[in-house]
Amino acid sequence: MRVLGIETSCDETGIALFDTEKGLLAHELYSQIAVHSEYGGVVPELASRDHVRKILPLIQSVMDTAGVTAADIDGIAYTSGPGLVGALMVGASVGRSLAYAWKIPSVGVHHMEGHLLAPMLEENPPPFPFVALLVSGGHTQLVKVEGIGRYQLLGESLDDAAGEAFDKAAKMLDLDYPGGPHIAKLAEHGVSGRFTFPRPMVDRPGLDFSFSGLKTYTLNTVAKHKGPSGLPDEQTCADIARAFEEAVVATLVIKCRRALEATGYKRLIIAGGVSANKRLRQELEVALAKIHASVFYARHEFCTDNGAMIAYAGAQRLAAGMTEPLPINVTPRWPLESLPPLDASSTD
Ligand code: ATP
Ligand code: MG
Ligand code: FE
Repeated sequence: MRVLGIETSCDETGIALFDTEKGLLAHELYSQIAVHSEYGGVVPELASRDHVRKILPLIQSVMDTAGVTAADIDGIAYTSGPGLVGALMVGASVGRSLAYAWKIPSVGVHHMEGHLLAPMLEENPPPFPFVALLVSGGHTQLVKVEGIGRYQLLGESLDDAAGEAFDKAAKMLDLDYPGGPHIAKLAEHGVSGRFTFPRPMVDRPGLDFSFSGLKTYTLNTVAKHKGPSGLPDEQTCADIARAFEEAVVATLVIKCRRALEATGYKRLIIAGGVSANKRLRQELEVALAKIHASVFYARHEFCTDNGAMIAYAGAQRLAAGMTEPLPINVTPRWPLESLPPLDASSTD
């Protein structure tokens, strides 16, 4: 089965073609970072308009690259939530309408299920069950995963998401949006140990997270070392970035270990933009080796938003017989746990 995947939940137009036998045929991404960077965050109305401009040429281009025509496509998967409602509507409208015109089924995909399943696109994908750490711009969640659509939330952030914390810390250091990769780069030049930031909530039992205290601590440290430029000197900025990154990573690692111990599982997958973070990957590998568990993640470009993860997740659901009715629907707020399990949904 060949599935066209469409992702437009936020500020990236992602398109891909996934074949359940041959794997990924082609994928392309158009990022709106340049459109939003001067505002320091995503402007929803501008995001929707840019998706409208880019989506059809991108679909055409992916089909051309894969050497595929409409007649070769068996289904369409589009992100139908969670996300920005206007941005979601673009992908849903185009996806549902193309499916209608091409007389093939379509399915709305949960964006976080897309992230969660992205590591399945790699060689040696992890078998179920496993624990998933979803760490992105809008989510920080630990999920017990027994199969597709069999998700149990173990813990989540009570305030900012991990990616959001990276973005806010970056802003304090006058780095560009999105801040995660910039903080990580700056942290490489930072001296470990000059500052030690708090590890939020690790002294309390449970699997929830909180990053707002760390954010305040970062803000206070920046203010305390402010020079004539309005910022701390270059080395101090790098040291702050380092301390911030180490604190976030240490917190995530401790909670992941706890989640594995609580479930008894030996496999962890990490997904979402922050799972691209090198320090997080390294520290998890070291920590999990000690408890004879292993960590799985997607290639760098499939950690952040992309069409491939939506095509993959949608292909699983389409293959199980799930389809959308004709009215176009999006779900801007959509708990992952409410998704139907795959085997039970096949009779829908
Ligand atoms: P959601 O998936 O929750 O709806 P989103 O789609 O905006 O949110 P993603 O695209 O998955 O989020 O990830 C973007 C986030 O990942 C940003 O906050 C960005 O700063 C962060 N990020 C990207 N690369 C890195 C990195 N190397 N280190 C830390 N954070 C990173
Ligand atoms: Mg994004
Ligand atoms: Fe995302």
